[in-house]
Amino acid sequence: MEFSYTPAQLELRERAAGLAEFIKQYEDDCERDNGLPAAAHAKIREQVLASGLQAVNMPSAWGGAGLTILDQVVVQEQLGELTGALWDTVWRPANALRFCTDEQRAAYLEPVIRGERRDCYAVTEPEAGSDPQSLRTTATETEGGWLINGEKWFVTVGDHADFMVLLALAGEERQPTLFLVDKQTEGITLQRTPRFMHTFVYEHPEYTFENVFVPADRVLGGLGNGYDITRAWFTEERLMIAARTIGAAERALREAREWALNRRQFGQPIADFQMIEAMLADCAVDIAVNRSFTHQVAWEADHGTDRKTVHAKASIAKLSASEAAGRVVDRCVQIFGGRGYDRSFAVERLYRELRVDRIWEGTSEVQRLVISNELKKRGTDFLQFPRQREAGEE
Ligand SMILES: Cc1cc2nc3c(=O)[nH]c(=O)nc-3n(C[C@H](O)[C@H](O)[C@H](O)COP(=O)(O)OP(=O)(O)OC[C@H]3O[C@@H](n4cnc5c(N)ncnc54)[C@H](O)[C@@H]3O)c2cc1C
Repeated sequence: MEFSYTPAQLELRERAAGLAEFIKQYEDDCERDNGLPAAAHAKIREQVLASGLQAVNMPSAWGGAGLTILDQVVVQEQLGELTGALWDTVWRPANALRFCTDEQRAAYLEPVIRGERRDCYAVTEPEAGSDPQSLRTTATETEGGWLINGEKWFVTVGDHADFMVLLALAGEERQPTLFLVDKQTEGITLQRTPRFMHTFVYEHPEYTFENVFVPADRVLGGLGNGYDITRAWFTEERLMIAARTIGAAERALREAREWALNRRQFGQPIADFQMIEAMLADCAVDIAVNRSFTHQVAWEADHGTDRKTVHAKASIAKLSASEAAGRVVDRCVQIFGGRGYDRSFAVERLYRELRVDRIWEGTSEVQRLVISNELKKRGTDFLQFPRQREAGEE
């Protein structure tokens, strides 16, 4: 058993920290203007490409950074420090796009990897949130392709993306299927762009689809495989949420520590008051414990632990880290006092921005269901460390 970063991982962490530091300069503009102008996006894109951290989840043969899950966690932790969700400017194509055919890859995925196109993922509907089985959007077979009808909500990056990975029930058998849908296609209407609690560099619009024609060769990953592909994607994305929330929590604690050491009341630094010390200590505990577990699960995902076990463990990591980060940032706002309520301080922005991590990619309650299902079916063994594999063992 060994718990240390390799020199390559340390270099990767430094590189990601450098990229985050560059992007940080845009935080205040993003907060003030609820987004960034095209020129800022272009500068960030240039820097992302220069850092080699574009599409960290895609193989290098296709132009991605080709990182392991653990290495992606190392990167996401650094990017998680950014407010305004500026971490999302460092594009990570939807994992579902790995199922592209050669032609689809050349037209969709590879341009995304190069930062020339952008995808968004449209699953949620007014009646289908935690329960995707209540999906109503349909794809009806027609000459040369499909006609999509329905409605999609909360489409993150919908404003910036030029195509969607869309889940619909295909054909009379209502097979859950993913489609690559160009956003400019006739019949797609932007209905509403809600303002959410957080400031997010992109929007999460709502769209309706009325007889939207999608050619037959835009089915992604085969008919009927939409749920399975989406579920497989959840495991990795939940680990990345855990990593980002830990990074965000660490930034909040770093800034609160600095503040507590320098802010004086009653003739002494507030860091010397035991109630403040207790808050700082509790933050350190929340961060250290969740960092270790998230790294462990990412390592297991890279080292052959079975898929179901990793899925349940990723739920533990997401649930625990997102809730712990919520506690950390709440205490840090308290340590900052009135300034903690001022939007020009990062802790205030993180306080609003981390809330959604307990809702998207499966709510905290859904994570608890995944964990308790695993417990009921297979007992407590999955909570153990995996057994070391012999050389050559699959
Ligand atoms: C900012 C933002 C961005 C998003 N981006 C995307 C995106 O890009 N693409 C996309 O497809 N979706 C996206 N979503 C949607 C997100 O995944 C859903 O909001 C989430 O899955 C919850 O669904 P819901 O909002 O319909 O809540 P509901 O499913 O209606 O849940 C409401 C409450 O009931 C609880 N609940 C539901 N079922 C159970 C149960 N079986 N047991 C116990 N409690 C239960 C929930 O935990 C929650 O507390 C985004 C959401 C937000 C807020």
